[in-house]
Amino acid sequence: MGAQPVNKDGEAFVYPLEPRDVEASSFIRECYQNEKGVVTPTGMRGVWLDTPLIEVKNGAGTIEKSFPGMLRMFNRFDIDIRKDPVLVFPTLHYQNGGVETDPWGKTNIEGLWVAGEVSGGVHGKNRLMGNSTLDCMVFGRRSGISVADYLKSYKGSNGKLTLAHVKKYVAMLKEASIKTERRAPILFPEYRGKAVLARMIDVF
Ligand SMILES: Cc1cc2nc3c(=O)[nH]c(=O)nc-3n(C[C@H](O)[C@H](O)[C@H](O)COP(=O)(O)OP(=O)(O)OC[C@H]3O[C@@H](n4cnc5c(N)ncnc54)[C@H](O)[C@@H]3O)c2cc1C
Repeated sequence: MGAQPVNKDGEAFVYPLEPRDVEASSFIRECYQNEKGVVTPTGMRGVWLDTPLIEVKNGAGTIEKSFPGMLRMFNRFDIDIRKDPVLVFPTLHYQNGGVETDPWGKTNIEGLWVAGEVSGGVHGKNRLMGNSTLDCMVFGRRSGISVADYLKSYKGSNGKLTLAHVKKYVAMLKEASIKTERRAPILFPEYRGKAVLARMIDVF
């Protein structure tokens, strides 16, 4: 509604209505590549979101009417977003999973179905706004139906559902004298290679 992200010098560095991935990466670049972010006393970085502009453009009372939750939330920290800009920085919003499934959420691992962020393929490389809830509901429901179907003809452990596989895993750890706090096997190994880790931005 007219708020503008600005850097530490008060300069606008991005069009405020870009899709959120473009907006978010421009914040990160401004802070960590262009060194134009505001550095907080704890060493974190951010850019200003010029929220008072909302009322300059739309009239007094717009923020209270359109963003009552935000107004209340920032008030708890003694920040009046009608008068002062807020410091912002992107955080993880969504993970485009990666576990391959069939159209019913079934993976190629016996007994494993997935739906939601952990699954791959539904959104391609970038999820459009608002589509996660839709994805979770559609594929959650489909997975449930598929699991129920599977259980009808389930023959393992004499047709009964058990935690025998967890007990077996714990016994194997004991036999190998491995002490661990972990309660279950790791299904998928660490997938981030050196190249991915090298690109990580350490913001803390
Ligand atoms: C700030 C924010 C705003 C959002 N707004 C929207 C929106 O407006 N519209 C929209 O569609 N989407 C939105 N999303 C995205 C959406 O909320 C998520 O994509 C969705 O909730 C993911 O659901 P999920 O079931 O895949 O994962 P999650 O909800 O993350 O569920 C995974 C669960 O697994 C549990 N878990 C993790 N590890 C283990 C383990 N080892 N053992 C047992 N349990 C474990 C976790 O505790 C968690 O409960 C938003 C996300 C964020 C962060």
